[in-house]
Amino acid sequence: MSRRIIPVADVSAVPAFSGPVQTPSGVLRDTLSRPLRDLRISVTDRCNFRCVYCMPRAVFDKDYAFLPHSALLSFEEIERLARLFVAHGVEKIRLTGGEPLLRKNLEFLIERLARLTTPDGRPLDLTLTTNGSLLARKARSLKDAGLTRVTVSLDAIDDTLFRRMNDADFAVGDVLEGIEVAHAAGLTPVKVNMVVKRGTNDAEILPMARHFKGTGSVLRFIEYMDVGTSNGWNMAEVMPSAEVVTRIAEHFPLVPLEPHSAAETAQRWGYVDGGGEIGVISSVTRAFCGTCTRARLSTEGKLYLCLFAAAGHDLRALLRNGSSDAVIGSAVAHIWQGRRDRYSELRGSSAATLYAADERRVEMSYIGG
Ligand code: SAM
Ligand code: SF4
Ligand code: SF4
Repeated sequence: MSRRIIPVADVSAVPAFSGPVQTPSGVLRDTLSRPLRDLRISVTDRCNFRCVYCMPRAVFDKDYAFLPHSALLSFEEIERLARLFVAHGVEKIRLTGGEPLLRKNLEFLIERLARLTTPDGRPLDLTLTTNGSLLARKARSLKDAGLTRVTVSLDAIDDTLFRRMNDADFAVGDVLEGIEVAHAAGLTPVKVNMVVKRGTNDAEILPMARHFKGTGSVLRFIEYMDVGTSNGWNMAEVMPSAEVVTRIAEHFPLVPLEPHSAAETAQRWGYVDGGGEIGVISSVTRAFCGTCTRARLSTEGKLYLCLFAAAGHDLRALLRNGSSDAVIGSAVAHIWQGRRDRYSELRGSSAATLYAADERRVEMSYIGG
């Protein structure tokens, strides 16, 4: 019998907000003085892949209770919340999931979000993370709708291994074609994210580097994280980024590059021979909570302050009980101002057990990466 996973605990729902109304100033700071700058919006909890580390088939099977359509935020609701977040300082929005390209008419949402501007009149950085399986078909219309860039997840270049890792028999050629079409459509620079699991796909590090070197796509290696409760995470399967860099540098010499911004999650490395750059995201071995400016909105409108949070704040309840923009915006401000999350910095310490003790920690496919 398969194990049932409850997507998320609902203990900190805020069905009503009665705090003081706060007029947005364009900067909102949490208890650690981190501003709110990025919003990741999950547009579906469904996916056509069953990546073993994210939606293992044994758990996400035909009996798994995905959200009914009525539970999802509508495009109007997402746009309304996004507008309120932008007034509080959000400059970058990333659409994710589940697989975001499975959400019907996603281009309509992108059109709406692309019209938003920061308080000082700048357009948003509007991006999307996808498994790439539908990208070749959709890249052009996504670009036309106003998407700025795209990040494609790809864990192996070897077709047999890739099919095994996505556990849905998708061919690597389809994803590579998606990357090419996205590149041609101007969704650039295309970033390619590879989660490295020691013993599963670490032999793919070099072939992946070789494939993308000099193509203009930026390959980034991500440490396998202990998100959710269904992937059976184990530290022995984490390959530290430092080891990834060493492996690549043995074949293609690398030099460190300056970060684009202080809040950048990836450490950048450039090929000495001018073949472009790679990035490493050391979520486990080099926590970057101190500069974490990200909030996450789940498919059903719960606001999460950390990837490792057990519970979200129910903004959908406010949207659907007739609350005004001023009330919802003030609730967002209040929630962010109380934020103290820094799980990766605490991982392994007794304080981290506060998170880990909750068996119902939110799943990656529900909250988005
Ligand atoms: N389906 C889309 C995709 O795969 O790009 C978007 C959602 S997916 C949850 C977002 C990202 O999270 C992917 O790059 C995926 O590889 C990454 N991810 C999922 N589980 C992870 C884990 N346990 N550790 C590190 N990254 C993970
Ligand atoms: Fe789907 Fe993305 Fe999770 Fe893979 S990582 S199962 S593609 S949501
Ligand atoms: Fe941000 Fe939480 Fe990740 Fe730290 S652990 S970087 S606070 S999402």
